[in-house]
Amino acid sequence: MVRSSWSGAIVRPGASSKLAGVAATEYEAVPAVDPDARPTPPGARSESSVVMKFGGTSVADPEKLKQVAARLVGAREAGYRVVGVLSAMGKTTDELLQLAREVSASPDPRELDMLVSVGERISCALAAMAIVDLGHEAISLTGSQAGIVTDTVHGKAKIVEVRARRIHEALDRGKIVLVAGFQGVSTAFEVTTLGRGGSDTTAVALAAALGADHCEIYTDVRGVFSADPRLVPDARPLRHVSFDEMLEMASSGARVLATRSIEVARSHTVKLHVRSSFEEGIGTWIQEEDTVPSEKGGMLEKALISGVVHQREETVYHVDGATRARLFGALAEALVNVDTIVQTGEQIVFSAPPEDRAAAARALDALGLTWSSRDDLGKVSLVGAGMKSHPGVAAKTFATLEDAGIESPIVSTSPIKIACHVPTVDVDRAVRALHEAFELGR
Ligand code: ADP
Ligand code: ASP
Ligand code: MG
Repeated sequence: MVRSSWSGAIVRPGASSKLAGVAATEYEAVPAVDPDARPTPPGARSESSVVMKFGGTSVADPEKLKQVAARLVGAREAGYRVVGVLSAMGKTTDELLQLAREVSASPDPRELDMLVSVGERISCALAAMAIVDLGHEAISLTGSQAGIVTDTVHGKAKIVEVRARRIHEALDRGKIVLVAGFQGVSTAFEVTTLGRGGSDTTAVALAAALGADHCEIYTDVRGVFSADPRLVPDARPLRHVSFDEMLEMASSGARVLATRSIEVARSHTVKLHVRSSFEEGIGTWIQEEDTVPSEKGGMLEKALISGVVHQREETVYHVDGATRARLFGALAEALVNVDTIVQTGEQIVFSAPPEDRAAAARALDALGLTWSSRDDLGKVSLVGAGMKSHPGVAAKTFATLEDAGIESPIVSTSPIKIACHVPTVDVDRAVRALHEAFELGR
């Protein structure tokens, strides 16, 4: 049981800083495509490229796929070079993972990637057929065919390069290109996948490589909200969010964008536009802070708190008598994505996603350490660029949780985030209480 209370200087602030030896998410290099390496017929250069990504709910059935096809055709007819990045239909990825578990207790990672990468290919092939029926030319490509080159880590590969020549050739011929999200080919020529939500990363990496001004992320909500709108019905849609805030929000559990997609977007200055697949609306722009004038709803007057985000489960480990460098070196080697780290004296407490549990246990056992873990905690985080310059946010957060009778055994902060681990059973209540206390609703 972990019972250490701590609220001091911090830990791993999302992806915005790194601790040596910790498997922190790193920036992915996406080299620009050499413009001379592609054939470009006269006239084609004047058209700009747009990358449009559609999530699982947006392509959940044939009717929705046809609507997506119509949207892509609309962009082509408006004069863009159009790349669509699609997720697997509905719950396909979950179903494929379940199928693997029914066959094997610990599926071989290479074969698992061969299996789950299929979902995105289905969506792309079907969308291409629908586009052809609408009188346009289209081609679907696997991640490998699209030139998404990754490292060799099955299940959470990182993109190391985008070789977009084939995409350029198809775009130059006026085709709409459908790229299967969430996957690539490794430097060892194996099919890899990028981790859950990885189609976002595919889309942003392609937008960076194609020199697109921004990347459109179509999903099942109208944009990024001040809290998960499924949990907090009066959550407010946010018009502008900075890369830093969105990184903190995503790495703290706001599912709407994959953390690594924001890292790629920030390092290549690709603006992100999150919007609904199903209704018109202005959506949310994610970009550098201070690039939008405040009279246009920009971020010069930074919101004290932009959002309250949550994750229902995060495994918390408690280790005694380990040397820090050795412990986190071993965890990094085991590819455990360590989040919060708290050390008081000999005692080290750290957290990591539940899916990394087996790898963490193996690494800790191999070091011969005495350790325990706790699976009954989740995390609630307040994120806002304005909290840098406003005292009192932590005090109000703690008072709100205390008034609601919610214990928080671990607290960690970054300049723009306060994260409280709370019991999983209290996560929803904590989100609603904090959202209300900071008056974030509409
Ligand atoms: P997609 O399949 O389109 O990639 P996801 O399910 O990955 O969609 O992400 C969208 C979901 O993210 C929404 O349905 C919503 O419930 C959830 N979500 C969590 N936090 C937020 C937030 N702060 N703003 C918007 N959506 C959020
Ligand atoms: N289909 C994959 C998943 O469910 C990737 C994605 O949708 O982005 O995680
Ligand atoms: Mg997603």
